[in-house]
Amino acid sequence: MAEKRDYYEVLGVNKNATDEELKKAYRKLAKKYHPDANPDNKKEAEAKFKEVNEAYENLSDPQKRKMYDQFGHDGPQGFGGAGGPFGQGGYYSYTSSGFDGFGDFGDLGDIFSSFFGGGFGGRSSSRQSRGPRKGADLNLNMEISFEEAFLGVEKEIVINRNEKCNVCNGTGAKPGTSVTKCTVCNGTGQVRQVQNTILGQVQTTKTCSNCHGTGEVIKEVCENCKGKGYVRKQPKIKVKIPAGIDNNQTVVLREEGEPGEKGGPKGDLYITIRIRKNNIFTRNGSTVLCDIPITITQATLGAELEIPMVDGTKEKYKIPEGTQTGTKFTIRNKGFKSVNSNIQGNFVFTVIVQTPKKLSKEQRDLLLELAKTMNEQPPVKKKGIFG
Ligand SMILES: [Zn+2]
Ligand SMILES: [Zn+2]
Repeated sequence: MAEKRDYYEVLGVNKNATDEELKKAYRKLAKKYHPDANPDNKKEAEAKFKEVNEAYENLSDPQKRKMYDQFGHDGPQGFGGAGGPFGQGGYYSYTSSGFDGFGDFGDLGDIFSSFFGGGFGGRSSSRQSRGPRKGADLNLNMEISFEEAFLGVEKEIVINRNEKCNVCNGTGAKPGTSVTKCTVCNGTGQVRQVQNTILGQVQTTKTCSNCHGTGEVIKEVCENCKGKGYVRKQPKIKVKIPAGIDNNQTVVLREEGEPGEKGGPKGDLYITIRIRKNNIFTRNGSTVLCDIPITITQATLGAELEIPMVDGTKEKYKIPEGTQTGTKFTIRNKGFKSVNSNIQGNFVFTVIVQTPKKLSKEQRDLLLELAKTMNEQPPVKKKGIFG
């Protein structure tokens, strides 16, 4: 294979080109090199056309572009080289707007798809099944208590996922039997056909029906997994939930999802946390909030209160004489930890003065005595002009 040209060079744009600039350059070149527009030097045009398509395919995808910028053609995703997933011409996907530039040619979608083996307008499944592929991610919800969110917790959960079959070690072949190269496609997973279209004769690549694109044929399938190479399992998994996690936050367990294909990595497991309501405490970010009932005498004379903390301990707190109902007090650093730092929130409690509903005779007499000394209704407070 000849030395590959730089993708940016192929499209004639600079490294900082915007998506719009890429698209514009791509359209111009694809139109210029389309085989139909170059009947006299079709072969050369076709090669250029493919080169332009490959460059655009890789640069228009932000993820692939990043990889390319970082690793060039030799990237870990197999950019370039003949063995990579984009080796023999690659697969091409077009955005719907990508067709705009070909207006002159009419609706070429069908021709393109036969020309490039069904790669247009979407991913070619035959291509996708060839190289290593990451397994699917799994998503779960998990409910925990307010206290568990406060302190952090380790939970064991049972999940459903596919795991490599131990009997055949993932090959799908019965132990002792061999996996052989598919003779129909010679192990490539694809068969080429020549088709007559209005563009003339074009070569089409199709997924090999004998091996379904794997390039391998299993003579006797593994009975444990029925040839799939994996089996459904219900493994138990330990999940560490950090102290301070908030409702709807997600814990990610790398490589605990579905198995990858062809040696690709496993998918990830995403666990979204739901925190049950608590009878005493609520939360606002890292702040714990709670209402503390006090008596009229505690409010009037001042008192030392015992405030329950989320971790089960108690904190003593002195409220002053003449505390009004609804007054908020703050105990510093007794709120939620931050998941990402050492900062700890505060604990804020609101005192609610309870007016007694039932009094003993003695209490009533005492209050009546008190009332005689202060039996004037307090004046209605005048509001300032700013309310
Ligand atoms: Zn098996
Ligand atoms: Zn085959």
